[in-house]
Amino acid sequence: MRNLSLVVLLCFTAIPFYGQSTHLEGSIDISLEKGRLKSQFVLTHLRHEDLTLSFMLHSDLAVKRVSLNDKEMAFKKTKEKCYDCTVYSITFEQALESADRLQIETDGRFKTYKAGQNKKDYKGKIANNYGILRASEQAKWYPVIISKGKNLPAFLRKYPYTFDLEANCDCRSVYIGRGVPKPSGSRFVSKSPSKDIMLIAGDYDWVEGEKAIFINISEKALIDRLDTLFSSISTYYEAYTKIDMPTKYVMAHLPSDNSRWGGFMTYPTIVSVRKSMGDRNLTAYLSHEVAHYLFGDVYQAEGNLFWFYLESFAEYFSYKYLLQHDPAAMRADYRRLKKQKDLVRLDQVKSFNEVNSTARYLIGPFQLLAMERRIGEEKMLELIASAFSKLNTSEDGYQTLIDALSEIGVSADAIAEIETELFQRFDPATYKFVEEKLKSK
Ligand SMILES: [Zn+2]
Repeated sequence: MRNLSLVVLLCFTAIPFYGQSTHLEGSIDISLEKGRLKSQFVLTHLRHEDLTLSFMLHSDLAVKRVSLNDKEMAFKKTKEKCYDCTVYSITFEQALESADRLQIETDGRFKTYKAGQNKKDYKGKIANNYGILRASEQAKWYPVIISKGKNLPAFLRKYPYTFDLEANCDCRSVYIGRGVPKPSGSRFVSKSPSKDIMLIAGDYDWVEGEKAIFINISEKALIDRLDTLFSSISTYYEAYTKIDMPTKYVMAHLPSDNSRWGGFMTYPTIVSVRKSMGDRNLTAYLSHEVAHYLFGDVYQAEGNLFWFYLESFAEYFSYKYLLQHDPAAMRADYRRLKKQKDLVRLDQVKSFNEVNSTARYLIGPFQLLAMERRIGEEKMLELIASAFSKLNTSEDGYQTLIDALSEIGVSADAIAEIETELFQRFDPATYKFVEEKLKSK
């Protein structure tokens, strides 16, 4: 990845996995004072047919020892590209059995930043900012096995684990994966597989609300406002999609010095990295992040239109919520849309990076709103179910979208109109119908 801003903008979530899942257990020793993260991991139920297995680990950490059923074995660093991480490979003498125990010991020092220093911070870093250690799944603080055949670059690849981890820390609170933070020496267990295992350790406080757990947020009025918003947004998405939203989110305030960065989601953990969490943009921000449960976890993006399927759909849902509950929060986006001149032609995208930030977060969501206006809300839900179900076998995400429109019964004429008016050219007038809605409230 040459373009750091792409990585900065990353925010996406876990993907569920069905069947017997690989299990990650072990112990983690965190020292904030020494900036040290030392772990002993044990992987079981490895579904791996090949004799060679590769995994990724953050470059601030190093593999110290690998053993199979307590017998030490050789491992090597490979030259495979991995952003901020190193790819290791090990070769077995025979295929693994489910009960085989692959032990991986890691050790390393994470960076502790002084206030104002970590200006290039992003989700892929393991960082101690303002006294709190943050390591997302993208930072690969635990070994992430590389599964083959996914149409994604290494830094987006994840691997689902059920887990049982014990964490020790010279700090007051540790959070791993989900649920409430716990004191040093606690165990963190998840029986449902997750590709998103977030670590937050430090001397922070937390509060449990109705709909979410709040980490490092203490202001009562803000917590109440966030809790109400979580509830309102979840209810709206549930009513529309008939899909149950998570019963409890985790909202963490982990301030970072990168002023261009707003936050990210490591499902079910929503992180704000802003210096202060004021009321500004809160509705737009939360409605986008909560939608990532649907687009990222329930529906999984893949392929050349990865960013469109992940981000534009999440933002489209956010817009739907805003139009209903807080249209004023959408006005700035609409004004920006009207000024746009260039269109990323989704029908011509070859590589996933061609879908730039404007296409992902601005034009894409408006294209989807305009499509909904033509085919209706019910058909949009059918379209989502149909298109996403084919992405893992599709060669071209745009063709998948068009095929799905046809499959759900949209007429050939209507599809041709959608293609020419929404995807082959950009005319701000096409989106004037949104202006009416913004005015009406
Ligand atoms: Zn997003």
